[in-house]
Amino acid sequence: MTDVVKWLKNSDPQENEFHQAVDKLIAWVQPALDRRPDFGQQAILQRLVEPERSVIFRVPWMDDSGQVQVNRGYRVEMSSVLGPFKGGLRFHPSVSLSTFKALALEQVFKNALTMLPIGGARGGADFEPKGKSDNEVMRFCQSFMAELAHHIGPDIDVPGGGMGVGLREIGYLFGAYRKQSGEHAAVITGRGLDWGGSQVRLQSTGYGVVYFAAEALATKNRTLEGRRCLVSGAGNVAQHTVEKIIEMGGKVLTLSDSSGFIFDEEGIDSGKLAFIKRLKNMKRGRIREYVDKYSEAQYVEADHSLDHNPLWNHTADCAFPCAAENEINARDAANMVERGIQLVCEGADLPAAPEAMDVFLDSDILYAPCTATNAGGVAIAALEMSQNRMLLNWSAREVDHRLRTVMTNIHRQCLETAEAYGQPGNYVTGAIIAGFTRVVNAMYDQGLV
Ligand code: NDP
Repeated sequence: MTDVVKWLKNSDPQENEFHQAVDKLIAWVQPALDRRPDFGQQAILQRLVEPERSVIFRVPWMDDSGQVQVNRGYRVEMSSVLGPFKGGLRFHPSVSLSTFKALALEQVFKNALTMLPIGGARGGADFEPKGKSDNEVMRFCQSFMAELAHHIGPDIDVPGGGMGVGLREIGYLFGAYRKQSGEHAAVITGRGLDWGGSQVRLQSTGYGVVYFAAEALATKNRTLEGRRCLVSGAGNVAQHTVEKIIEMGGKVLTLSDSSGFIFDEEGIDSGKLAFIKRLKNMKRGRIREYVDKYSEAQYVEADHSLDHNPLWNHTADCAFPCAAENEINARDAANMVERGIQLVCEGADLPAAPEAMDVFLDSDILYAPCTATNAGGVAIAALEMSQNRMLLNWSAREVDHRLRTVMTNIHRQCLETAEAYGQPGNYVTGAIIAGFTRVVNAMYDQGLV
């Protein structure tokens, strides 16, 4: 354990997720630390892992029965050295300050990789939107924003959507901000197309993931055409990952939610995907309903007593985990490698547990981590901020072209940096050290602040 992790454990012993994230970060940037002994005296690592600001706040709201409920809201503003804080919101009962610190740290390097002027932050609340009425979600969002509005602004901090925070939630959050501030400011991204949103923002994370996958496969003279693909999740990232895989000729076999997964040997085509979008985005139904409509598919209920997830135990060429953190454990990773997976390209944030990452890195598969692969979402969110400021609305074609360019550049930076540090083809080293270097250079340029 490094001195920095010991220091964090002493001050905040309960923040296991964050300690795990810092521990891994230090291991990955070690080759860069070895080249720069001056980082120690400058306390570069301590300054990077201590958020510039963290806010925790009460969110009281009234449910449909008239009962007042209280949730906890968070915003962790990790680093603004490259630009205003930027990073998504998450509404999920499992979150804590530790979750958001881990996600915000990773966001700093992800945002740096896009080469856009954005710092890193994350936030959200331990609120479960699932099963709530639209009115309950609206009242919650209004109360959440009543406090968050004190901490954000177009030049300060610009949150966006994320897990449990889709178009509906962004609408209620932005409406509440506008009412409170009296401004139609560029203060939240992921907005509806009629009220300041960007073309392709909704699709950007998933499309970007697949653009990265295509670049990675091209290094082995392969394409997605005809490849069997496993995808987990059924939300925003999963849906648009599937959409782009289909467009590039791949065959998607699986999708999941927290209750279970579906396996469709015939492949999920555009018609079936349209059904899933209606089911998940409008009806807010469960993935198991897929087999009621498409009887050729199987549904497998989640079984938490197993030591592995059977979704990852199917024979396939490519895997796109797009659901949640730590959804792939070491056993899953070993199963995937054994069954001949050629590429694992992450859509979700930190879906591979640290031991699973080690399994992938010790094998000869292409392993592309989320720091690089799902940066398309935040990149297009930053372009949404630019369009809002210029009162412009670029076409879908233009934004998609910019997205592809960003993802190609990220892929190139990863490969070049990995090569420069003697680890050719290691996307993890490449992504983290490239992002880290940009952030640290800016810290030196701006002095001790
Ligand atoms: P959504 O809330 O739209 O969807 C998440 C999906 O994953 C839901 O279908 C959910 O099912 C499912 N899920 C959650 N936990 C599990 C689990 N343990 N096993 C199987 N399925 C599960 O979120 P997003 O698609 O927006 O986000 C997914 C991931 O991508 C998150 O890690 C997020 O941080 C990351 N991300 C998202 C970005 C974006 O632009 N949206 C940008 C960058 C990263 P259920 O409905 O049952 O909960």
